[in-house]
Amino acid sequence: MSNNGKYRITVESCILLAALIIISCLYTAVISKSSNDVDDSNKDNVVQEEHKKQSNNNKGKKTLFNKADYKAKGFKTYTIVIDAGHGGRDEGARSKNGRYKEKVCNLAIVKKLKLMLDQTDINVKYTRLDDRYVTKRKRVAAANGRKADLFISVHCNATDNVHSKAFGVETLFARRKGDNRYMTNHRLSNIMLESVSKSSSNKARKIIRREDLFVLRHTSMPAVIVETGYMSSKKDMKYLHSERGQYEIADGIYKGIVRSLKEMSRRKGKR
Ligand SMILES: [Zn+2]
Repeated sequence: MSNNGKYRITVESCILLAALIIISCLYTAVISKSSNDVDDSNKDNVVQEEHKKQSNNNKGKKTLFNKADYKAKGFKTYTIVIDAGHGGRDEGARSKNGRYKEKVCNLAIVKKLKLMLDQTDINVKYTRLDDRYVTKRKRVAAANGRKADLFISVHCNATDNVHSKAFGVETLFARRKGDNRYMTNHRLSNIMLESVSKSSSNKARKIIRREDLFVLRHTSMPAVIVETGYMSSKKDMKYLHSERGQYEIADGIYKGIVRSLKEMSRRKGKR
């Protein structure tokens, strides 16, 4: 073998070696790319599984608010005023541990009630939809000024008596003040007590006659204060503070309103 031939073999070996290196590099790159693809598709599968799990979980739970349940129609001629008790510097009652304020609870229930009433054709005016101070006089004026058909004030109860085990729903009314031939305060209180305790897990406690309360004394239409539960009761408070509790109480108030308006319509029809 000549020197020249030896040289050529060396050059050919080098080229072969380089080609092998390039091929092996390309091969490694392809393998690692496809393994990334596998990783990504695995990730996709995991995400899809998670979604499936979540939607299965949701299927088991009853949804707290379903628009279709609140489509009451035929009440275009009625105006009602919904009054979330207290607000701003007037905090109302407090839970036993002092952590929960009544004004917050009242507003949370009224906001859920609004979602329901928004589905209907009832004209609704709210005395407040945020944390603001509203005088009692303004609350009454909101109803009297519009010649509202019903005034519904939403509150949460509490007792100062540390030994009291009081719990449940109460409705307050003043006799004859805003009664008319279609609805009386007493009848409205009755309907509300029944309806709220039926929709919620707070038991009906009683209807109380209160002539001394400003909003009941000065409103010129059937009016009621719904005391939705006792903040001083641990069990009621837990319920009042929960989303489910607030939706169920709002549902009870909604149904009480619709039932009252239906009764009024029936009596008007008999005129
Ligand atoms: Zn109150």
